[in-house]
Amino acid sequence: MTVHTVVTLEASDKQIPEHAIVALRGNLRGTVALPGEDGYDTARTIWNAMIDKRPGVVVRCLGAADVIKAVKLARDERALLAVRSGGHNIAGNAVCDGGVLIDLSLMRSVRVDPMSGTARVEPGATLADLDKEAQAFGLATPLGINSTTGIAGLTLGGGFGWTTRKFGLTVDNLISADVVTADGRLLRASEKEHPDLFWALRGGGGNFGIVTSFEFKLHPLGPEVLCGLIVHPFEQATQLLRDFRRIAKEAPDELTTWVVMRKAPPLPFLPAEWHGTEVLVFACCYAGDIKDGEKATKALRALGRPIADVVSPQPFTGWQAAFDPLLTPGARNYWKSHDFTDLSDGAIKVIVDAARGLPSPECEVFIAHVGGAMERVAADATAWPNRDAHFIMNAHTRWRDKAQDSACIAWARRLYEAAAPFASGSVYVNFMPADESHRVENAYGTNYSRLAEIKRRYDPDNLFRMNQNIRPT
Ligand SMILES: Cc1cc2nc3c(=O)[nH]c(=O)nc-3n(C[C@H](O)[C@H](O)[C@H](O)COP(=O)(O)OP(=O)(O)OC[C@H]3O[C@@H](n4cnc5c(N)ncnc54)[C@H](O)[C@@H]3O)c2cc1C
Repeated sequence: MTVHTVVTLEASDKQIPEHAIVALRGNLRGTVALPGEDGYDTARTIWNAMIDKRPGVVVRCLGAADVIKAVKLARDERALLAVRSGGHNIAGNAVCDGGVLIDLSLMRSVRVDPMSGTARVEPGATLADLDKEAQAFGLATPLGINSTTGIAGLTLGGGFGWTTRKFGLTVDNLISADVVTADGRLLRASEKEHPDLFWALRGGGGNFGIVTSFEFKLHPLGPEVLCGLIVHPFEQATQLLRDFRRIAKEAPDELTTWVVMRKAPPLPFLPAEWHGTEVLVFACCYAGDIKDGEKATKALRALGRPIADVVSPQPFTGWQAAFDPLLTPGARNYWKSHDFTDLSDGAIKVIVDAARGLPSPECEVFIAHVGGAMERVAADATAWPNRDAHFIMNAHTRWRDKAQDSACIAWARRLYEAAAPFASGSVYVNFMPADESHRVENAYGTNYSRLAEIKRRYDPDNLFRMNQNIRPT
């Protein structure tokens, strides 16, 4: 008799007989992919090429019923369980070694209701899937800056991007979610139904169950917005960051500027002599009327002596994908992130020093300006507590050659250590690499104990543990 081996929650091997796999296959709308079978490698390959895990069984789901069956299999066998949607998370928890992988990447439907200004979105949808559907009606909800990112992981971790200052975090725009819990039930979580679960889902990550459908509030935006890049020589970085700090403080909610420090990619609008040289880039987006945006971006655009300024009215869907070419899957990546309530001179010095010594041509330090509508929600209104963060810094360490692993990782850790005295101590869970489980409590701050209690109610055995894990109390 053929048997299949899975790794259990206790990290031992367990054999699943062939007839159990045959029964599951016959019961699904989707498919089961065992090692070597069609779809197996596609499902286990994720954005960060540092992650190369081999699950024992992959269930490629096509609907909530498939997810329920896959959860029951994992629970009954006490198998280690990973959940994959867009596969973008830096930590690589979307895949596991030896256990059951529930792959949701084929569930990509998006249904926009322009009348109510809402969207129903399946978990395998990418940001581009939602943006393209919603923008057909001049609507949007706040999402991130790389259009191939998964809606599911981004939303469950919090979600911020170009329109967060205007419309809040992604979780602030979540109306409801359908969730398969560890006991195999399908629950609707909203302000009215299972409100504790709904509270926890809005920032608590994949700890509480598997979301099979998200319902979002949409806002009128676009189809064109004023947006683009202003590229400066790196020598001016310190002064530019001080000016940015001042401009950010006075910015209206509509204006969001992120700073990127990196070696210039060969962008067609940059003179060739700058390609491969360190630059400081202001990437900005005005989520409102174009004419108002022209006024609001004046001070930023007047700074220093830029090499190029390509801020202009552009389709919002295009801007949402503008960074995709720099963030393609397949590279090795390691991140280190801090939240800042203010960009002190000390923080600026440490960041500029680090950006002077980038260890590879694809590494960058970025500083996202947040606040605005995000800040006006109480820290305990959702699981996402870090409402007082005004800037989120991420050391995006990215390279191709395995031989560079230690040099690149060491650079990110040095920057992280040096910046720590100036940071707030909190961190965005979605930017934490696999070796930061010790930061989970800090990431949730005063919301952690309530999350642990909700975890106990919905997942007492910690079936959903392949994530930035909140242990059940
Ligand atoms: C290039 C790049 C740019 C990014 N930019 C931004 C940004 O601008 N703003 C921002 O907020 N974030 C950003 N992120 C971070 C992003 O939000 C996280 O990586 C997020 O986890 C990605 O979601 P995913 O569905 O692709 O992840 P996956 O890797 O598929 O999943 C991540 C984790 O989420 C959980 N999970 C996934 N799907 C489900 C589900 N349906 N139900 C329950 N749990 C689930 C699992 O624990 C899983 O391990 C970026 C990431 C990358 C790689």
